Amino acid sequence: MRKRETVWPVWFLLGAFFLLLAAALAAWLTEMSTLPANVGRELTAEEQQAIIADNSPLTQYVRLSPNATFPREGKIEKITIHHMAGNLSLERLGEVFANPGRRASSNYAIDIDGNVALYVEECNRAWTSSSPENDHAAVTIEVANDEIGGNWHVSDESYWALIDLCVDICRRNGIKELTWTGDETGTLTIHKFFKEDTACPGPYLEGGMPYIAEAVNRQLQS
Ligand SMILES: [Zn+2]
Repeated sequence: MRKRETVWPVWFLLGAFFLLLAAALAAWLTEMSTLPANVGRELTAEEQQAIIADNSPLTQYVRLSPNATFPREGKIEKITIHHMAGNLSLERLGEVFANPGRRASSNYAIDIDGNVALYVEECNRAWTSSSPENDHAAVTIEVANDEIGGNWHVSDESYWALIDLCVDICRRNGIKELTWTGDETGTLTIHKFFKEDTACPGPYLEGGMPYIAEAVNRQLQS
């Protein structure tokens, strides 16, 4: 009698376990099958050129990340700046974002020489700013640091490339002006507005935001 009482919960638990396993597998397969075929792998020069044609012409390297929402909801209305918190090559960052386990990406990145890479096409939402709401409306940009820690300095080459990329994104997406309000209401935002425990994009870039907005707007108006 005692034996019988203990037998059925084991089978019940085992059954429930396999049911959950099947559900998880089905969810994973659905996610994998709905991903575009060009994400997560290295692309030929021709494939990269075809993708650049629909995004910023300033792009020099493309490796698309599976860590994105396809397509984004709503239209592009703002730009959000991040720093790498390191000095990664565009290829290395592409490898990092190609790993589905990282659950992170950005639309663009800029290395310390001012070269630009694309990881998530502008029509899709990158997973960058800890805020789906922000990232559905923003193009996100990671900038490499030439100083690790401290002010998290970025090179002049990265700085000018960032301004050029912002101008290009605004022009192609009909953003008339970049507004820096120092909070999340502007059309130029930074990661720390959406996440309490991050200093991203670091003091150097954060301090430069009013100047970046002004420089971009000057070019947009000319
Ligand atoms: Zn960030």
